[in-house]
Amino acid sequence: MSWSPKSWREFPIKQQPTYEDQELLKSVEEELSHYPPLIFAGEARNLKSDLARVGRGEAFIVQGGDCAESFAAFNADTIKNLFKLILQMSVVMTYSSGKPVVKIGRVAGQFAKPRSSDFEERDGVKLPSYRGDIINDIEFSQEARKPDPRRMLRAYYQSAATMNLLRAFSRGGLADLNKVHQWNLDFIKDHPLGKRYEELSNQIDKAMKFLAAAGINSQTAPQLRQTQVYTSHEALLLNYEEALTRIDSLTDEWYNTSAHMLWIGDRTRNLDGAHIEYFRGIKNPIGCKVGPSMQPDELIELIDALNPENEEGRLNLIVRMGADKISELYPPLLQAVKEAGKNVVWTIDPMHGNVEKTGTGFKTRDFDNILSEVRQFFEIHQKEGTVAGGIHLEMTGEDVTECTGSTSCPITEEKLGDRYHTQCDPRLNANQALELAFMIGEEF
Ligand code: PEP
Ligand code: MN
Repeated sequence: MSWSPKSWREFPIKQQPTYEDQELLKSVEEELSHYPPLIFAGEARNLKSDLARVGRGEAFIVQGGDCAESFAAFNADTIKNLFKLILQMSVVMTYSSGKPVVKIGRVAGQFAKPRSSDFEERDGVKLPSYRGDIINDIEFSQEARKPDPRRMLRAYYQSAATMNLLRAFSRGGLADLNKVHQWNLDFIKDHPLGKRYEELSNQIDKAMKFLAAAGINSQTAPQLRQTQVYTSHEALLLNYEEALTRIDSLTDEWYNTSAHMLWIGDRTRNLDGAHIEYFRGIKNPIGCKVGPSMQPDELIELIDALNPENEEGRLNLIVRMGADKISELYPPLLQAVKEAGKNVVWTIDPMHGNVEKTGTGFKTRDFDNILSEVRQFFEIHQKEGTVAGGIHLEMTGEDVTECTGSTSCPITEEKLGDRYHTQCDPRLNANQALELAFMIGEEF
């Protein structure tokens, strides 16, 4: 079973576009394959050792960002607000748990979307579904929905620019623990949660003053002034991923250089499929979604295919059952993996099993269901004596109205239309995400 970056092409593949112009597709792939990598393999190895720590219960993962990044909403503020939100959530959780948070954005490459249907129908007009900006356009017209390979180049440039800004924020001073107050987002400052965050920031300030008096400050201890935000996305469009798969000159091993971590979606994780074939050959830490249809023996086979050496930090299983199913479906999977002695990192995605449609036609998720699935995830791990490794969220640092509920700043069904901006699935807004972080902090 030899592997190469293109061996996936010999396997059945799901959820892909059909490109009309194969010559154009080839020339785009060729061009991309010469572009510089977006990450360095050593960084992916660092993430792997961070994830190994998570698996041992020594750290916690916060992974989050858009369901789908968009070309149209590409701007510095959105990236900055997501960055600040991830830092805020991390501070809240670190403060209450005493554990470091491994920060991973669904960002700088999260463009391709699996869809439940190949077509979308509106008022009797049937068109191909929107599959993410890397593939086609969200506008509902024949022309817009035609897959265009050149979109891969634009996705690459946008990812590069996003990555560049994230690196600047991480190293350039914004992540300094002396600036925790500045991470508070303008629109939540005056809400109860913003105030709660202010109180916590005051305590951190005191701790920083104490450390400074003892001679430890951002100059003497760089970890106080800089951070690492890793990038991740669903590696769905394998033409793009293959073109950015390169040999690391230090180790002679293959890495996907489009993000630090990649994951396999719930709809493309079939054992005989192209995605499993592609993922088994790259050395990055990887994720795989685990939804309601997963069976215990199937999961063990999947783990063996993706992590044959049973390495720590290699494989993150992202559970997404739904609040009403997790208590029944998750324990048998967790027990099977525990009994088989497999090293995996378990995280919870409380978004994708909790989608509903309102009477007014909005796709939404209720905050109570999201909280409930996260709580049950923690309880199940506590009962089994296993490690709950973290959370995986669709969220934004913007003040959107896409998910209903939350106590600090409730969004009713009627308000969903006010600022419903998502390209695809409904995201938690900054208030809701921060509330979730405080709730998890209390669970610790
Ligand atoms: C996603 O994370 O955006 C997604 C499509 O998830 P899943 O594969 O779990 O449905
Ligand atoms: Mn989604």
